Amino acid sequence: MRPFFERYIYSFTHLAELIFFPSYCLLCSSFLEQPKERVVCRSCWESLNFRLPSSCLCCGRFFAPEVEPHFCSQCLQNPPPFSLHLSCGEYKGKLKEIILLFKYRGYKLLGRNLAYFADQVLGNEKRLWWGTQVITPVPIHPRRKKERGFNQAQVLAKELSRYERIEFIKGLIKETHSFPQAGLSMEERSKNVKGTFSVKEGALIKGKVVVLVDDVFTTGATVKECSSVLRKAGAQEVRVITLAQTLSFL
Ligand SMILES: [Zn+2]
Ligand SMILES: [Zn+2]
Repeated sequence: MRPFFERYIYSFTHLAELIFFPSYCLLCSSFLEQPKERVVCRSCWESLNFRLPSSCLCCGRFFAPEVEPHFCSQCLQNPPPFSLHLSCGEYKGKLKEIILLFKYRGYKLLGRNLAYFADQVLGNEKRLWWGTQVITPVPIHPRRKKERGFNQAQVLAKELSRYERIEFIKGLIKETHSFPQAGLSMEERSKNVKGTFSVKEGALIKGKVVVLVDDVFTTGATVKECSSVLRKAGAQEVRVITLAQTLSFL
């Protein structure tokens, strides 16, 4: 039998969960029965596509399934400041719904499952992990962090650093509060983030192979700007991971 104090804490935690977390899946409305199921049910998680789609060997833009991976014409003509970007899936369906719950509805705990999903999709990608020394998130402005309560990219980067046993660092800061990128054109997005990031004082970036983590890749403006800042600070190479990419800008 558990000691009284432990039982008390357990009951309290259980009660808090009943109050703060829904008892049904927010995606399919089925009852959450498994002890560790929170917010999204196991079968919704299992319905995600765990296979990496065919994509550009540099920018990671998805190709049609029958197209072999190759360097896209954009990357050949104008290579981005990162050497590789890999996205776990398309920003649609259940993956998109889960990311929205995580990012905008305050379900920070979904970050752990999303990082697990990312690790299942990308964990064996040697070109991503080979020689990587540090893992760092795309930062958000302190004002936004206050509104949201957490930086979603940081939650993901920390969890991934545990899975991959790679040092986590806060390499960048977002100095200027910029407008949300949603709804802006490709050109406006680049302008909107230009000069808004800098390397955090004392961050050991020089000579390092860095994996940069963000949630969604749309035009790539944010991760390009962050990669460029990291490279200027002496990073040997920047590789990028995102949970999902939107195909709307193709
Ligand atoms: Zn479900
Ligand atoms: Zn490309």
